[in-house]
Amino acid sequence: METTRSEQLFKKAVDLIPGGVNSPVRAFGNVGMTPRFIASASGVYLTDADGNKYLDYVGSWGPMILGHTREDVLEKVFEACKKGLSFGAATEAEVEMAELICSMVPSIEMVRMVNSGTEAVMSAIRAARGYTGRNKIIKFEGCYHGHSDALLVKAGSGVMTAGVPDSSGVPAGATEDTLLAPYNDLEAVERLFDTWGSGIAAVIVEPVGANMGVVPPKKDFLEGLRRLCTENGSLLIFDEVITGFRLARGGAQEYFGIQADLTTYGKIIGGGMPVGAYGGRRDIMEVVSPVGQVYQAGTLSGNPVAMAAGLTQLRYLNAHPEVYTHLEALGERLYGGMEKLCQELKLPYQINHVGSLGCMFFTEQPVVDYTSAKSSDTKAFAAYFRYMLDHGIYLASSQFEAMFLSDAHTDEQVDETLSIMRNYFEKTV
Ligand code: PLP
Repeated sequence: METTRSEQLFKKAVDLIPGGVNSPVRAFGNVGMTPRFIASASGVYLTDADGNKYLDYVGSWGPMILGHTREDVLEKVFEACKKGLSFGAATEAEVEMAELICSMVPSIEMVRMVNSGTEAVMSAIRAARGYTGRNKIIKFEGCYHGHSDALLVKAGSGVMTAGVPDSSGVPAGATEDTLLAPYNDLEAVERLFDTWGSGIAAVIVEPVGANMGVVPPKKDFLEGLRRLCTENGSLLIFDEVITGFRLARGGAQEYFGIQADLTTYGKIIGGGMPVGAYGGRRDIMEVVSPVGQVYQAGTLSGNPVAMAAGLTQLRYLNAHPEVYTHLEALGERLYGGMEKLCQELKLPYQINHVGSLGCMFFTEQPVVDYTSAKSSDTKAFAAYFRYMLDHGIYLASSQFEAMFLSDAHTDEQVDETLSIMRNYFEKTV
C-alpha cells in the first residue's frame, strides 16, 4: 500500500503540532505506524492522501452513525452556511434542537448546547455541584469523560492508550474531590457513599464503558447507581457522549430502562460538527446562568451550521426506528461473527459488545473493568491492527477504543471484514 503522502505530511506535522496530531489517539504511535492522513470520506469509506480506500469502523469516533457525507445533512449545512456562519445570538435552530432532544429522552426537560463532550461533562458537573451544594463526585476507572482537570483520573481512551494514569499539569487540588471506583463494582460505590454520603454531588458513569474497549454494565450495576444516588440525594449523570442516540433513540437510558438526573452528549448530536450538550430535570438545569448562579457560556455554542448538521441527523434517527434494529442486527453479525471465529480458531480472546459498539480484547480474562481491560496484550492488538489497516479495514488504533458500526454498513461489508480477520488469525495461530 502506497503511503508516501501520509508519511510526508506526518513528518511535517510532528514539527508543527505536538505528536503531529490534534488529538493523541490519532497518532498511531502505540501501533508503531504512521497515521493515514484522510482526504475524504463517503458512506462507510475513507480515502487517504495517497488515494487508499478503507472500510471505516471508527466513524469519527462515533458521530457518523448514518455514514459520511450524507446528501440530506450536507444540503442543510450548505443552506445554513449561506445564511451566516455564526451570530453569537439566539436562533430558531437551537430551540428546535432542544425540543427534539427533550422529546427523544424522557429524563431531559431542559438542555444547554456546548461545543464538545468535554465541555458538556465539565458543565454538568458544575451544575450538579451547584444544585446539591456538595463537591465530591464519583467516577469509574477506565471511563473517559473528556480532558477537564477533575476527570483526568484513571481515565480511559487516549489516556489509557498512552499509559498515563493521571495527567501531568493537573494540580492535586483539581482532583481531590474526585472519588474513584472500579467499573461494575457496586460494593465499592456503596463504601464511598458510606464514607462520603452527604458530600457526594454526583456519580458520573458511561452507561456502557466504551473508552477502555467496550465494557457492558453488569446486570444491576446501573440500577444500583440509580438507587444509591436517590437514597443519598446525589445526582446520577450518564455520560452518553458515545451511547446517546446510538443504542436507541433515547440512548442508554432507554436501552437499559434507567433514568439519569443529568445527561451529557457530543458526537452524534453534531452530525460530524463540533457539538456537545448537557441536559436533565428542569429544577436542576435552572441552576445554570442566566437563570441560576452556575456560570457556563460559549461564544460558538449552538452554532447555526453545527445545529443544521446535528438536527438533520437526529431528526432522521427520530423518524427511522429501523436504524436501531439494523444497528443491533449488524452488531450481532459482526461481533457474533468475531466470537465464532475465536471459538473456531481457539483464540483465547474476549469479544465484548453492546448493540453497534464492540471490541476484541487480546486477553484470556473476561473483561469487566479497567484492570481486566489492561490485561490485554497490546502488542498482539497492534499486529492485528496493522494487518487490518493494510487490508483496507480502518479500526480504532487502540485496544482501548470501540468499533463503531453505522447504519450505512451492510451485511456484505461486515462479512468481508470477518473474512479478512479470519485470514489474519489463521496465519497467526
Ligand atoms: N465523554 C465520553 C464518554 C467520550 O467518549 C468523550 C470523547 O470521546 C468525551 C466525553 C469527550 O468528548 P470530546 O472529545 O468531544 O471533548
